Amino acid sequence: MTRGLRIAITGDIDDGLEDLDSCLRPLCETLESIGIPMTIPIVAHAVENNPRKVVYLAEHGVEVSGHGDIHEGFAGPLEVQRQRLKKMNETFGKVLGVVPAGFRAPFLAHDENLYPALALEGFSYDSSRTSIDLLMRIREMIFRRHMSYRDPLAKIPGTLIRRVTGRGSARPYPVASGVIELPVFELDDWFFFEYERGPHITRGELSKVSDTWMAAARHLADSQSVLVLQAHPKRISPDRLRLLEDFVGRAKAEGYRFSTLVELAKLYAPPGSSRDGTPPSLSAERNHARSLSRSGGPDKE
Ligand SMILES: [Zn+2]
Repeated sequence: MTRGLRIAITGDIDDGLEDLDSCLRPLCETLESIGIPMTIPIVAHAVENNPRKVVYLAEHGVEVSGHGDIHEGFAGPLEVQRQRLKKMNETFGKVLGVVPAGFRAPFLAHDENLYPALALEGFSYDSSRTSIDLLMRIREMIFRRHMSYRDPLAKIPGTLIRRVTGRGSARPYPVASGVIELPVFELDDWFFFEYERGPHITRGELSKVSDTWMAAARHLADSQSVLVLQAHPKRISPDRLRLLEDFVGRAKAEGYRFSTLVELAKLYAPPGSSRDGTPPSLSAERNHARSLSRSGGPDKE
């Protein structure tokens, strides 16, 4: 049975110090062996300093997305944000020959001016707002299970308001002309492994992470929601790749499908939208790379 909810695996690259052989290559090999795509937002500064690694990712089916000119939040005047996006795109164009289709703000930090700035610079999606799973939060609080958020009670009304008003929703929605928001699930890999008040999952407990992500998928399982997860290359590869294998295997067995963010942007573009999520983006490059590798094309490492 195929379920409506689409899942996207994403994970940012901030400084580009991830090692090609010990981190990025095993990550790409795992994605290939479990048969799912991934979207990696990358800071332009890291693209510029690590062209070989970024080209490697693009050639191995990864959708490379924008993550800022530098790793600093996007806030302030519209024109300043536009200039930063332009600068980011210039670097991508120079190194990869194409500009990214979408964007995620560094630290997810941004203000309302980001959306018109993205629209004016031709982006088709943003993925900088978080979605929450209210049911999970309440259950965790009541039963104090292993993922306990340790949310103070006082915080719950605010969470409820976010949910009721639609902020915190897992449904894609337009934020500016031609730009769709693809909310990212609040419980990322950082929360599980490094957040000081988080559960500090050890290597032997990785299935607890997939348990949580599977529970979120089931709670959101309707065709209008997306589950955008964060698994940062630096944190996940190579030591925690087993988590991806485990989660994807379970999700596929329950009928969930995996997409890149640009694919989701196309799928959820409002009817009659001037942009259908296919700007001259890296997705074209990716398909090209895939057909090259299928036809036994040149080794591009
Ligand atoms: Zn980042």
